[in-house]
Amino acid sequence: MADSIYITPTDDTIVAPATTPGTSAIAVIRISGKETFNMVNTLFKAKDLTKQATHTIHFGTLREGNTILDEVLVSIFKAPNSFTKEDVIEISCHGSDFIVRKIIQALLKQGARLARPGEFTKRAFLNGRFDLTQAEAVADLIHSDSEASHIAAIHQMRGGISNEIKNLREKLIHFASMIELELDFGEEDVEFADRADLQKLITEIQKVLSSLIESFDVGNAIKNGVPTVIAGKPNAGKSTLLNVLLNEDKAIVSAIPGTTRDAIEDEVMIEGVRFRIIDTAGLRETTDTVEAIGVSRTRDKMKQASLIIYLFDAATTNPYDLEKELQEIAQLNIPFIVVANKSDQLLPSSAIYQWPESSQLIYISAANKLNIEELKSRMLKEVKAEKFVTGNTLITNIRHYESLRQTYQALQTVLTSINTGLSGDLLALDIRSALYHLGEITGEITTDDLLATIFSKFCIGK
Ligand code: GDP
Repeated sequence: MADSIYITPTDDTIVAPATTPGTSAIAVIRISGKETFNMVNTLFKAKDLTKQATHTIHFGTLREGNTILDEVLVSIFKAPNSFTKEDVIEISCHGSDFIVRKIIQALLKQGARLARPGEFTKRAFLNGRFDLTQAEAVADLIHSDSEASHIAAIHQMRGGISNEIKNLREKLIHFASMIELELDFGEEDVEFADRADLQKLITEIQKVLSSLIESFDVGNAIKNGVPTVIAGKPNAGKSTLLNVLLNEDKAIVSAIPGTTRDAIEDEVMIEGVRFRIIDTAGLRETTDTVEAIGVSRTRDKMKQASLIIYLFDAATTNPYDLEKELQEIAQLNIPFIVVANKSDQLLPSSAIYQWPESSQLIYISAANKLNIEELKSRMLKEVKAEKFVTGNTLITNIRHYESLRQTYQALQTVLTSINTGLSGDLLALDIRSALYHLGEITGEITTDDLLATIFSKFCIGK
């Protein structure tokens, strides 16, 4: 857990396997810290590694006494030109757990310590290689399993959100120091920080913050998938539609165990965005289900969704019944798409066309795979995923989201303080509070607990 990762020393030499356990062609062991070169040198007999240039690779044998451990490739990175900014060596050995264990044991005997989860990345952060959001993006990148989450993680790792936050922070710091300067003049009635300018700046910053805060829904959807429910009466064609959505994507779609014991979730990828279709077990069993599954029965399921696809049999549904169902769904306050299925059976005289809003419907035929593309693009549109396509910064991390909201609130207090003519010292305090929350995001302000929590989520060796 987040135990005492932060009270572990940061100046010793750490070692860990960087690849997953199991038999493989190659395994990599990573060592970082002051004694890295000395420790590896005692095992590596081919040449003195301290005398080699950084970013070079060397072939040789690792020996402990007379015992040959393995023939290896050793990649060397000299401080500060390494991931951790410390001396780093990566040993590529044969991919056997036994060999990896032997080499690590030999290094431990030299005085190295087994690295904790995320400790390499933590050192990189502490040594100023990147800020906290970028460190977190490393973890996201490792765990990304869709094109969209991959792009979001890379964008963040390259400083996406950090750059925006840094800009805002610098501007605020400027104002804070102006106001604090006023305080130095004590009794004299001077105003270095123009209140109207400050107001304008805060409103501008709040605008940026709002758009970042809003992006969290999209960001979260991209990171975790969009929980989606396909709802509708029996025989509307729900399971047929599910199969069409799944089959088009067979290579990347998998059935994964859902959150409850008997629920099953299927995933549909649309342009790199993952939609998690909730409780498809219920859909699959529709042939055995005799009772009516109207909106009321699926209500609970729908409440868990971020998107509802409401499907009805366009050929037989009475528009008045449809309207009633839709009113119920609308009460849930969740984005929904109304889909008229079995369009292949529609006639110009069909009752549905009498409905005033019939032109707004998406007409598909699940069985004949007609117009599925339009449905898909509507699904993307409903979760505002087109934002991600344009490469805007997305908030994918709940920690960032919370800090952004707190910053926004703090700035709101600053605005109120300006309006009520609050004295400079109180104003400065409010601005500092906003700065504090902004700084939390990038790690300019951190607590040991926070660092421990973040890095304990990493795997060992990262
Ligand atoms: P569910 O109860 O909502 O899951 O509905 P099903 O997917 O089991 O479909 C009910 C029936 O409607 C099946 O016989 C399907 O073959 C049929 N069906 C589904 N989609 C279409 C369609 O687009 N056109 C026509 N003509 N029949 C369809």
